[in-house]
Amino acid sequence: MQTYPNVQLHIDGQWRDGVEGKTIPVLDPATEEVIGQVAHATRDDLDAALAAADKGFRIWRETSAHDRAKIMRKAAGLLRERKEAIGWMMTREQGKPLNQAIGEVLGGVEVIEWFAEEARRTYGRIIPARGRGVTQMTVKVPVGPVAAFTPWNFPINQVVRKLSAAIATGCSIIVKAPEETPASPAELIRAFVDAGVPDGVINLVYGVPAEISEYLIPHPVIRKISFTGSTPVGKQLAALAGQHMKRATMELGGHAPVMIFDDADVDKAIKVMAATKFRNAGQVCVSPTRFLVQDAVADRFTEGFVAAASKTRVGNGLDKETQMGPLANERRIPALQGFIADAVQQGGELACGGERIGNKGYFFQPTVLANVPVDARVMNEEPFGPLAIVNRFTDFDEAIAEANRLPFGLAAYAFTGSAKTQEALGASVEAGMLTINHVGLALAEVPFGGVKDSGYGTEGGADALEAYLDTRFVTQTG
Ligand code: NAD
Repeated sequence: MQTYPNVQLHIDGQWRDGVEGKTIPVLDPATEEVIGQVAHATRDDLDAALAAADKGFRIWRETSAHDRAKIMRKAAGLLRERKEAIGWMMTREQGKPLNQAIGEVLGGVEVIEWFAEEARRTYGRIIPARGRGVTQMTVKVPVGPVAAFTPWNFPINQVVRKLSAAIATGCSIIVKAPEETPASPAELIRAFVDAGVPDGVINLVYGVPAEISEYLIPHPVIRKISFTGSTPVGKQLAALAGQHMKRATMELGGHAPVMIFDDADVDKAIKVMAATKFRNAGQVCVSPTRFLVQDAVADRFTEGFVAAASKTRVGNGLDKETQMGPLANERRIPALQGFIADAVQQGGELACGGERIGNKGYFFQPTVLANVPVDARVMNEEPFGPLAIVNRFTDFDEAIAEANRLPFGLAAYAFTGSAKTQEALGASVEAGMLTINHVGLALAEVPFGGVKDSGYGTEGGADALEAYLDTRFVTQTG
C-alpha cells in the first residue's frame, strides 16, 4: 500500500529539509486529512539554491545538446516507469481523478522527450557579409539560471514545460513548486536527478511564494523568470522582473469564450465541451467559460449541456467511477459561491448545480448559469472552477465583440460547419490559442500562451526554446 511522502527541498544535488526545519502541512482535498509535510525554504536555503544554480549553469552550458538530450530521455523513461505511483500522489494532493493524474505524468514524458529532441536543433545563422573574407553569424546561447514559479492545478505539467525548455537549452533552474501539491513535482525532479543531471542544475524549493519571488527575481544570479498563475500576481512579478531587466515569460489567467454557431454539430459541441469544462474541476487557465450560442441552437445546446453537466460523477479521484474530483483547496468554495450569488442577484439564471456537495472534502456541483448580464462578476473575472455561463448571440459580429470584450486573451473555442466562418474567426479572435470543432491545445509541439492580460511568451513548440536562449552575434575576418 502506497503512502504519501514528506517532501524535501532539492538543492545542489541533495534532498534535504529547510535550514530552519520549518514545514507546511499538505491536505487531501477529498478528505481534508493532513497527508504529509513539505519542507519550507528560508533565506539561507535560497542562497544555497542560488549558489548551486550558478555553479550548475557553468557545468551544464558546457554539456553538449546531444548529451543533455540523453539525460532528458532517461528522465522521461524513469517518469514513464513511475507513472502509477506519481499519479496516485497527485490525486491525493490535488484531487483530480487518477486516470487524469496518470495522463498528466505521461503528458510530462512527451514534453521532456520533445524538448530533448528540439534543443538539438537550436541553429544559429550565417548572415551574408558585405565584403569578402568576413563571416557574420549568430549563435544561440543559454540565457542563464532560471527562476520558475508554478501553481497547483497541474502540479507536473506546469513545471515540466519550464524545466524541460530550460534544461534542454543549457540553463540551470530553481523551481518554486506549489506548496499545496508538492510531491508529484518533486518526483518529476527526482526522475532528472536519478537520470544523472549534474548537481546544482535543477533545484527545488517551497515556502512563502511572495518571499521567494521577491528574493529570487532581483538576485543577480537569476537571468530569466517564468511564472504561471493569476494575472494580478503576474503583473507584480513582471514589474519586478522589468525593474531588474530580467527576461520573463508570463502564463496568466483566461476567460475563454466558446462560440457555437447555428451551423455547428451541436451534439458534438455538447459532448466535447462538457468533458473539457469539468476536467480538473474547471481549474484550468484555458477552461471554456463563456459559452456564446447562436439563437437558433441556444435552447438545444443549453438543454444538452445542462444534462451532461448534471450527469458528471463527482467524487474522490481514487474512485474509478469519478469524472470530477474536489476543488483543490478550500478557498475556491467561497470564491465560486460568491460568483454564483452575484450572477443570480444580477438577473442570471442558475440552470444547474451551484452548491457545495457534503461538508467533508471540497466537492462542488458542476454548475451552469444562463443568460448572465455582462456586468456580473463572473462575466469579467476568471471563475477557476466547474462553472460555465451560457449566453446567446444573434450574429457573427456580436459574438466576436463579446469574445474580445475582456482584457484576457488566452484560449478561445468555436464550433461551426462553415469554412468561411472558421477563416473569419482566425482573423478576428484576440486569443493566443483558437481551437475550432475540437480541442487541440497544450500538445508538446504547439505554442501555448496568451495575449493581452493573459501574459506573454509561449510554453510549447519550438518558440518556447527561444525564451531560454540569447542570440549572440559574432563577426570575424582574417
Ligand atoms: P493566487 O493568485 O494567490 O496564486 C496563484 C499562484 O501564484 C499560486 O501557485 C501561488 O503560489 C502563486 N503566487 C501567489 N503570489 C505569488 C508571489 N508573490 N510570488 C510568486 N508566486 C506567487 O491564487 P490561488 O488562490 O492560488 O489561485 C486562484 C487564482 O489563481 C485563480 O483564480 C486563477 O486565476 C489563478 N491561477 C491560474 C493558474 C494558471 O494555470 N494560469 C493556475 C493556478 C491559479
